[in-house]
Amino acid sequence: MNEFFDIIIIGGGPAGLTAAVYARRAGKSVLILEKATIGGQIASSPKVDNFPAMPGISGAELADRLYAQADELGARLELEEVLEIHDGTPKTVITDYNTYTCTALILATGMKHRSLGLEGEETLAGISYCAVCDGAFYAGRDTAVCGGGNTALQDALFLSDVCRHVTLIHRRSEFRADPILVDALRKRDNVTFLLDTVVEALLGDSALTGLKLKNTVSGEITELAVNGLFQAVGQQPEGALAQALNVADETGFIPADESCVTPAAGVFAAGDCRAKEVRQLTTACADGAVAALAACRYCG
Ligand code: NAP
Repeated sequence: MNEFFDIIIIGGGPAGLTAAVYARRAGKSVLILEKATIGGQIASSPKVDNFPAMPGISGAELADRLYAQADELGARLELEEVLEIHDGTPKTVITDYNTYTCTALILATGMKHRSLGLEGEETLAGISYCAVCDGAFYAGRDTAVCGGGNTALQDALFLSDVCRHVTLIHRRSEFRADPILVDALRKRDNVTFLLDTVVEALLGDSALTGLKLKNTVSGEITELAVNGLFQAVGQQPEGALAQALNVADETGFIPADESCVTPAAGVFAAGDCRAKEVRQLTTACADGAVAALAACRYCG
């Protein structure tokens, strides 16, 4: 017989883990299903300076602490990928290893990396989406970071400690990133800013040797020799499950309001997968709490 839980949470990032804490404290049985990394994308962040009361904590430690809290309260976490969900009473969740049933479902599926869509992105060695994971491979070498948000600036700061030189390539001259990060990066001697610039092509046969760049103002085309390119050009929702449940819009985001309630009875949305203005750790955790309490009420 399929194992039953009051609440199944899909996604083990800050929203999902916070939801698990609230649901366990309310006495519900909880299963968290995470397909990749406990803590989600924040686990790759070198330093988190805007989570209240924890300035300077690494993303990995924050993820560990969030998981430890949910685990100590008795939430179960399985590293399994959800392949299918059948709505109903109860709901059925099919993963790559098991089939589970539950009364309420919380979608906390987060976001995935956006790519630049360049030829060779998938095949060339030297393309990365995670400075913390891969930065050490480029110790003493030359790298570039593409993007102008907090991830790009944090990645460039992290890489400037290990690489010989880092070039930050951003398509505009204004940054989306917090000014404090931009100021910190400007102080680094081994960092060059290439603004109003886009990557036109990746150079190299099996490994990246350089980038073909275009200045969007002058139209000038140049080449930059680098061993690694870290792409930090934002995120897009992991929307497939929500779309299959008919609770996502065409972009994959779930248009639930602050209540985290979706049009499907007993299905709740929390964190970055929810359509909203501000996607931060704090707002993901807040969603986790709201969604869990709504799911608990639904369970009765
Ligand atoms: P983001 O804020 O959406 O920034 C993406 C950047 O990539 C933007 O600068 C964007 O340029 C650029 N971009 C997008 N598509 C591009 C393309 N096709 N070609 C070239 N450039 C492109 O994404 P993020 O930096 O990953 O951050 C996501 C969220 O997580 C944000 O809310 C951020 O504040 C948060 N975050 C927080 C921390 C923290 O420590 N608290 C750390 C990392 C991230 P434009 O600016 O021109 O659109």
